[in-house]
Amino acid sequence: MISEVFSSIMGEGKYIGRRYIFIRFRGCPLRCVYCDEGIKESMPSRVERKPGSGIFQEYPYIERDLIKIVNRLKTPDLFAVSFTGGEPLLHHKKIREYSEELRDLGYRTHLESNGIYPERLFFFDYASIDIKLPEHFRDLEEREYREIYTLELKSIEKLYSMGVDVYAKVVVMENSIPEVVEGVAKDLSDIGDITLCIQPVTPIRGIKAVPQEKLLEIMELCGRHLGDRVMCTPQIHKYLGLL
Ligand code: SF4
Repeated sequence: MISEVFSSIMGEGKYIGRRYIFIRFRGCPLRCVYCDEGIKESMPSRVERKPGSGIFQEYPYIERDLIKIVNRLKTPDLFAVSFTGGEPLLHHKKIREYSEELRDLGYRTHLESNGIYPERLFFFDYASIDIKLPEHFRDLEEREYREIYTLELKSIEKLYSMGVDVYAKVVVMENSIPEVVEGVAKDLSDIGDITLCIQPVTPIRGIKAVPQEKLLEIMELCGRHLGDRVMCTPQIHKYLGLL
């Protein structure tokens, strides 16, 4: 269920640059073209030895010892504990237990989800919900894409109404259509004061980078609906060679 636990900086989204402990869960039912989850799925479970060292030991009992591990990886600059993946809400019952225990101990919790399970949501201090675009998938019918998009908006709406500090993240690609991303910004503005993090795709495995002009055009179009609640948040951990 949990593939790894480690301490690093948040490399994407609204809280980019903050220190986090990441609890990464295995598995995801989606297949985004830029995702490396499939590679990680087969790795043995592991825990970082010392916070920020990047040195891991295999650890088959993470689920049993999770709170102890988080306490050990805590640093004075810690901002929050992230439940990430894969798709963490595949394991929502367990996460609810961990989350309650961690919040009782004074930790802030952060969910990073693809947003397709609104019925599984509960309170987190922070939540990042991915908004997928049609070009993120190969061979997905329009109807299936609309279903995913509707669920993502529903998740954001639900978290927002619960008082969670929720923001949306959208990965833009070289072939993304600016007006489609603008449509996302418009739908978010109908929900409330939601920040939209535009994440230019990290160019790996033949995926092309987004030209600067297109990136800024997308931001401007989104700004028509969200004003300054639009951010460009490239995956800085990848550029810095961090976990
Ligand atoms: S939703 Fe996230 S974890 Fe799932 S396939 Fe897409 S990028 Fe990977």
